[in-house]
Amino acid sequence: MELGLYLHLPFCKAKCFYCDFNSYPIKEEKEVLPYVSSLYREIDLYAKKFKNATLKTIYWGGGTPTILSGNWISNIINFLKDNFNTAPNMEITVEANPGTIDKEKLDLLLKAGVNRLSLGAQSFNDYFLKRLGRIHTVPDIISSYLQARESGFDNINLDIMFALPDQTLSDFQSSVKKAVALKPDHLSLYNLTLEEGTEFFKSWEEGRLNLPDEEVECAMYSWAIDFLKKNGFEHYEISNFARPSKRSLHNQIYWHNQPYLGIGAGASSFIKGYRYMNFKDPQRYIQEVERGKFPIEEGEKLPRRKRMGETIILGLRTKEGVSYREFKDRFKIGMDKIFSSQIAQLVDSGLLKRDEDKIQLTPRGLFLANYVFQEFVDG
Ligand code: SF4
Repeated sequence: MELGLYLHLPFCKAKCFYCDFNSYPIKEEKEVLPYVSSLYREIDLYAKKFKNATLKTIYWGGGTPTILSGNWISNIINFLKDNFNTAPNMEITVEANPGTIDKEKLDLLLKAGVNRLSLGAQSFNDYFLKRLGRIHTVPDIISSYLQARESGFDNINLDIMFALPDQTLSDFQSSVKKAVALKPDHLSLYNLTLEEGTEFFKSWEEGRLNLPDEEVECAMYSWAIDFLKKNGFEHYEISNFARPSKRSLHNQIYWHNQPYLGIGAGASSFIKGYRYMNFKDPQRYIQEVERGKFPIEEGEKLPRRKRMGETIILGLRTKEGVSYREFKDRFKIGMDKIFSSQIAQLVDSGLLKRDEDKIQLTPRGLFLANYVFQEFVDG
């Protein structure tokens, strides 16, 4: 069995105002020590369980994995490589925040085989970085990026957010232009979403958050698609843009609904038709692992109909869409047999297009993707 492996580090230097990821602010690196030792234990448990699995990718996300020292990061990656079979040319991505990497750390990461860096830039405007509660500034982004290039990283992603409070179309355009000027290999563009429990949600409830309206948000997305295409990026997934041969292999595992293993607090896995999720709370996660147990909080065998719907929803996110043949090979039944009315209705409303091989979102469907996806959710 081939697997993508996701590793989660749920700690950051501070909590951003919009963030509802499983991450907690810490003051000192040593607070993370018990968690890191549990990561080793969980890796060991799974390496024994999936002796015959081969890792195609490793993706270390968070939180901020790079708040750890270079030695800790590289030791864990080496431990994974020593305990699992790994594919040749395995993609290993580490998420990093500007200001949390230096030459020494980057050298250690490269030596451990990390070959892709994902930098959480978010904006190239200090006002918006501050507004988001980010701890870094634009000069931090630029120096971290240049340092990574100088160290030898030849595959760097920049995350950029849009539809931020007070942001105009021209503010966003200026950020994207500055990002592109650095010549990254990959860009991920995400619109701000308001999540309950965040600082931003509270401000919004109190009427203190001036968000761009839907029309401006669509204009931002549409301009970015055009601008990035003109600048040599392939728009290969709703939110993702890559230079030739620089697509994220790890994320493609998710979009193709292929198996992945999640390690760490709150990480989820999808293996042999089962979806399960680890305890989210790091303390509870540590307790379970230290008792020698898999730290799984909940899980379910996904009904076939649900897996079919999810395969379509995830596949539609990609430029290639969903292939009739691949669907049939996987589920032994034609996509049209199960979803004919949904597909016909979405094609009629101009949100999906189909040819004899596949279905895909239309350019209009890209903007209304969530509405399209809803049609394939198991009712
Ligand atoms: S750095 Fe990322 S994970 Fe950490 S608080 Fe900010 S948005 Fe959340």
